[in-house]
Amino acid sequence: MFELTKQQEMLRTMVREFADTELAPKALELDRKGEFPRDLVKKLGDQGLIGMAASKDLGAAGMGYLAGTLAIEELGRVYPSLAFLLEVSQAPIYAIEHFGTEEQKKKYLPGVIKGDKIMSIAATEATGGSVLAKPATEAVADGDEYVINGRKVYITNGGVADHCVLLAKTGEKTSTFVVGKDNPGFIVSRRQEMTGFKAVDISEISFNDCRVPKEDMIGKEGSGLGIAMTAFIVNRPAIGAIGLGIARGAFEIAVKYAKERILNGRPISTLQAIQFMLVDMETQIEAAKWLIYYPCAAMDQGSDPSTVAKHSARAKVVGAQAALDVTQQAMQILGGYGVSPEYHLPRLLNDALELFPAEGTSQVMKVIQAGEIVR
Ligand SMILES: Cc1cc2nc3c(=O)[nH]c(=O)nc-3n(C[C@H](O)[C@H](O)[C@H](O)COP(=O)(O)OP(=O)(O)OC[C@H]3O[C@@H](n4cnc5c(N)ncnc54)[C@H](O)[C@@H]3O)c2cc1C
Repeated sequence: MFELTKQQEMLRTMVREFADTELAPKALELDRKGEFPRDLVKKLGDQGLIGMAASKDLGAAGMGYLAGTLAIEELGRVYPSLAFLLEVSQAPIYAIEHFGTEEQKKKYLPGVIKGDKIMSIAATEATGGSVLAKPATEAVADGDEYVINGRKVYITNGGVADHCVLLAKTGEKTSTFVVGKDNPGFIVSRRQEMTGFKAVDISEISFNDCRVPKEDMIGKEGSGLGIAMTAFIVNRPAIGAIGLGIARGAFEIAVKYAKERILNGRPISTLQAIQFMLVDMETQIEAAKWLIYYPCAAMDQGSDPSTVAKHSARAKVVGAQAALDVTQQAMQILGGYGVSPEYHLPRLLNDALELFPAEGTSQVMKVIQAGEIVR
């Protein structure tokens, strides 16, 4: 039987208490304001929650992928925007830790892990995020530097990040670079209005003759796609975990409401129609949970990301779907109150919708899974 370790259970309890005491009372207000919660990101860093799978040498907790996923799930249950901010920091950390030089690791990662610096990963272009292999953004070598021109869209943290890990074309192939917001030619073009994750900055960024020193290339020239894809494989279960958290949050709201709402002299939780919905919701949550935990536990036990690509893609899809389905059912249980912002469900639903395209659409996740099934 699979069990969490004592340390993982303690972590889960700690994050749940933080979410319930510090986030729950102000989640609605934070969302309404739609400001990037830099102070909360710093708190995540202070509590050792950023980049939990990274090495202790870099200042991280070194507790593994499953621990990071549990923390994201618990935040997602109450305030998915913050869960998303935690999730999105993991991919650039992974890319630099596993493919970067010692200098790059020391220079860029401790600040991000502490929550003092923000990082993004910039791969998607307006011509289609599903086709990462052929970016139009191009980096051309010029002496000791590369000169970058192009545009990236839907970049989480794009407008607030100190650095981004950028995927760009170099000749026939692609390469990844660390690009700082202070590099001349780095432009935040606009913040993109989105349905959910209101506190998260999602922006379009441009590179206009932006010069980066050659030592800021991550890995070898031509290895960019492999680096980005591996970082996404590692990170996709965490997107699923945001969905799992949202589903659990919505389920808890529905159970509480069903027990308290009295119609015809008895709580609606005594109605079989309501009970069956609650059963379906809990079943979907439990099914998603184990499919999300599995690839994380496998990587913690030493599995190479390439061997869990199918599981990681599935984890993302089931988490997003659980968030959507369970939240919609919770809304029905609450009747008219289900669509009132006061009861949080519209906010959770809007956040759930954004999980589908983020880090690869459900269809592209199925392409990955199918590729392994029929190989
Ligand atoms: C909240 C959010 C955060 C994001 N954060 C980031 C970020 O930090 N960094 C970043 O680089 N990107 C980010 N993205 C972009 C995201 O990765 C892309 O939106 C996603 O990859 C899809 O790309 P697209 O929107 O261009 O859709 P397209 O690629 O144009 O896809 C359109 C449709 O075609 C389908 N499709 C495409 N290819 C196939 C195929 N081979 N088989 C079947 N169907 C296919 C898709 O499933 C979809 O239905 C974010 C997006 C969102 C919504």
